[in-house]
Amino acid sequence: MERIEEKLSILADAAKYDVSCSSSGSNRKNKNKGLGDTGAGICHTYTEDGRCVSLLKILLTNFCIYDCAYCVTRKSNDIKRVSFTVQEVVDLTINFYRRNYIEGLFLSSGIFKNADYTMERLVRIAKKLRQEHHFNGYIHLKTIPGASDELIHEAGLYADRLSVNIEIPTESGLKLLAPEKNRQDMVKPMEYLRNKITELGEEKRIFKKTPIFAPAGQSTQMIIGASGETDEQIVFMAQRLYRDFSLKRVYYSGYVPVSCDNRLPNIGSAVPLVRENRLYQTDWLMRFYGFQADELVNRQYPLLELDIDPKLSWALRNLSCFPIDVNRAALHLILRIPGVGVRSAQQIIMARQYGALDMEQLKKIGVSINRAKYFIICRGYKQIYSDQAAHKIKQYILATSQSKYLRRHCQQLNLF
Ligand code: SF4
Repeated sequence: MERIEEKLSILADAAKYDVSCSSSGSNRKNKNKGLGDTGAGICHTYTEDGRCVSLLKILLTNFCIYDCAYCVTRKSNDIKRVSFTVQEVVDLTINFYRRNYIEGLFLSSGIFKNADYTMERLVRIAKKLRQEHHFNGYIHLKTIPGASDELIHEAGLYADRLSVNIEIPTESGLKLLAPEKNRQDMVKPMEYLRNKITELGEEKRIFKKTPIFAPAGQSTQMIIGASGETDEQIVFMAQRLYRDFSLKRVYYSGYVPVSCDNRLPNIGSAVPLVRENRLYQTDWLMRFYGFQADELVNRQYPLLELDIDPKLSWALRNLSCFPIDVNRAALHLILRIPGVGVRSAQQIIMARQYGALDMEQLKKIGVSINRAKYFIICRGYKQIYSDQAAHKIKQYILATSQSKYLRRHCQQLNLF
């Protein structure tokens, strides 16, 4: 028992660097009187509706034949190495589930001998859980780059979500920090999964007996700040991944300095949390607000501003697009107004059918007036800032902003 506890503490700790474990979109029902039931929106910490749920998040092993400089599990790192057996992971999952500790499993791994050897073990765990224990909880499996199509196919039959980590956003960065790896080994399983998810999804609509295949789709993770990449490179890569592989999510993980290596930021350097957050906001703008990558970052503006969010940053660079009349403009234009979220934009469209909206009504709808007032026209209000320079408007907004990220970004020491 002590041995298992020790393995659990080592392999759970090693798994914490992977952030690609939130999930949504899976709806595996408990039809066979088995164990568990995966509802939509399960994730490791908080679901989109704010519920906190938990997954058993572990590595199968922290042995690895590779030596990726940014990874704590790299073979040259002098750490204690342990592995679970297939049965140990199955037993842990079932026991934790029965005790109500977890609602699912997130399983990744270092690479034992080769990709197939490792992937085969991951698949066996998922298969045992589903077929022997009739476990209907959520399962997220990492796909090992270089694993065969047959094993990836089998993984998709048992897991809700599969993910292949891109890790380093640029090819040159990958060559520098993980020279034994190649991008093609990461892209190939993504292509395979995209094709299978579409093909079997379409087949299932016609033949009900077609098995479900990775119902929560695929995701990936990029490490931010390890290889000197610009935000432009990261955001363009994310756009490509969504477009080419129909990914459900791209996760951004600020690099935590774990290696003393002159190719990497020094141990003790700050984790780029604000940058990570701005990238998530950019991702949101591309997925839900209709922005293209090159509107948010480009050759002229390769870095995201850290003190303001990317939508405000875009608006200040494009003041000629404003003011927007919220009582007349189309939805796609209303979505561009800083301080207006997707829900508020939809409510504006609904509410204005019954009469022109004024500031008070916009406030009730949930519009952040502090920001929006510089960019809109509404009943009884015409913005008076059109002749102001962008940097002035930015100053006004920052002066009244309550953003926690602004506080974090502040360089001034706070002594009291
Ligand atoms: S292959 Fe994966 S686990 Fe192994 S060193 Fe590289 S990133 Fe770490």
